Amino acid sequence: MALESFQQFINGKFESANETFESLDPATGVAWALMPKAVEADVDRAVQAAHVTFTTGVWPTLNASARGKLLYKLADLMAANADVLAELETKDTGKIRRETRAVILYIAEYYRYFAGLADKLQGAHFDVDKPDMEAYTRREPIGVVAAIVPWNSQMFLSAVKLAPALAAGCTVVLKASEDGPAPLLKFAKLIDEAGFPPGVVNIITGMGDTCGKALTSHPLVDRIAFTGGPTTAKQIVMNSANNLAAVSLELGGKSPVLVFEDADLESAANAIVSGIFAATGQSCVAGSRLLVHSSVHDQLMDILVAKAQRIKIGDPQDLETEMGPLATLRQLTHVQDVVDRSVASGSKLLTGGKIPAGFESGYYYEPTILDCANSAVACVQEEIFGPVLSVLKFETDAEALAIANDSEYGLASGVFTKDIGRAHRFVKSLRAGIVWVNTYRMISPMVPFGGYGQSGTGREAGAESILDYTRTKSVWINTSEAPISDPFIMR
Ligand code: NAD
Repeated sequence: MALESFQQFINGKFESANETFESLDPATGVAWALMPKAVEADVDRAVQAAHVTFTTGVWPTLNASARGKLLYKLADLMAANADVLAELETKDTGKIRRETRAVILYIAEYYRYFAGLADKLQGAHFDVDKPDMEAYTRREPIGVVAAIVPWNSQMFLSAVKLAPALAAGCTVVLKASEDGPAPLLKFAKLIDEAGFPPGVVNIITGMGDTCGKALTSHPLVDRIAFTGGPTTAKQIVMNSANNLAAVSLELGGKSPVLVFEDADLESAANAIVSGIFAATGQSCVAGSRLLVHSSVHDQLMDILVAKAQRIKIGDPQDLETEMGPLATLRQLTHVQDVVDRSVASGSKLLTGGKIPAGFESGYYYEPTILDCANSAVACVQEEIFGPVLSVLKFETDAEALAIANDSEYGLASGVFTKDIGRAHRFVKSLRAGIVWVNTYRMISPMVPFGGYGQSGTGREAGAESILDYTRTKSVWINTSEAPISDPFIMR
């Protein structure tokens, strides 16, 4: 069967690249599409287009309200095309259709939120301590943005970069991940249909060490917005020494979920299951370390194991399916490797730990729960990015906090307790960018997210994130008609 072909989008034109690579369907492991593989010359054309569009032409003359209207149009188009985009995202990444469709509909709200903010940016006027002077600031778009996303949630992770960047008046070169780029390449059609001038948004894909490297070190890039792993992040920081671009990094996590003896265990268990098994565990905020008070450990394990074993694994396009495959064979091999090393060093497998029977041809893995004696094992230390929950027991609040904070990461966390005082104490003391209390995996365009430590720097979403796509210009105006006197005194 002929493979479907996708194109890159540069300077308002859909074009085939000189080189291509195959995309595999994670549910079958079979190639289904050819993707354009951008190389350095393509990256350069995309960045040049974004630079020319930023500095000349229609885009810089559009007022902020007009930019907002384009974003509202894009949001409507996303909602209208949610089914097509969801089907493609599911096909190319294995993420279940139930989730891809719901998330794409919600992403439209992110575009609407930032559309509304476009004309709310303001400078300031100063009552300065100098005679005959007017001083004020202007908030100006920062310039060309290089946006780079990983495979696991490309539509969402690009929206939290594109929406504020475009609202602020920037132009963007977006690099989709080489794993599962189909929905973003299709999304380019909506950018075109919404009426954004050519060059405002350019969408390419390609390999990290060529396309990604060329993009993040390009001298005309002013801002890098990256989501991915910490090792790549360090490469990108080094690349940015070339252009001194402002950099934001949304990285991995090993997020702790704390369940105290007074928690509603059934409710906590549902949140824990969604926190670790949704998206087959390929979520940066996955609640992958479960810390349980010893008095409720056995009871909670019984509930969780039963729930994990009931999860319906299957074709991700089937709306009944609750857990699909991992996105790549590389990821499947990695998950199996961490589980094997953890079991070999003493962790007890409560359920899962292997490829489910009957699903050998795709990249499927069973929902897995490992009971761990201490924090030293691989499954507690390393980000697995798969459906693997590592469980540790604690006796006191102090011990729970110490274990929770014993990680190089600090993205998200969850606290399950009915004690409001304890909840507040943990909110204050947990080293994590997000604390969910008696809930998990909540997001909103209004609420920022981002991490501590190896989980990155900067925050995405929330009103303040638009400021990261601007810079301040200070303006001084001499209103006096008198000539400037002594030139050797700074006034
Ligand atoms: P990755 O770091 O390997 O790749 C991410 C992107 O960076 C890809 O598009 C890749 O092509 C590109 N890239 C790779 N090398 C590059 C280089 N030298 N220069 C420029 N670009 C380069 O990450 P991944 O394995 O695709 O994704 C998984 C990681 O992403 C996990 O660590 C996960 O936790 C993290 N993540 C974080 C968030 C968050 O918001 N904090 C959200 C989702 C995923």
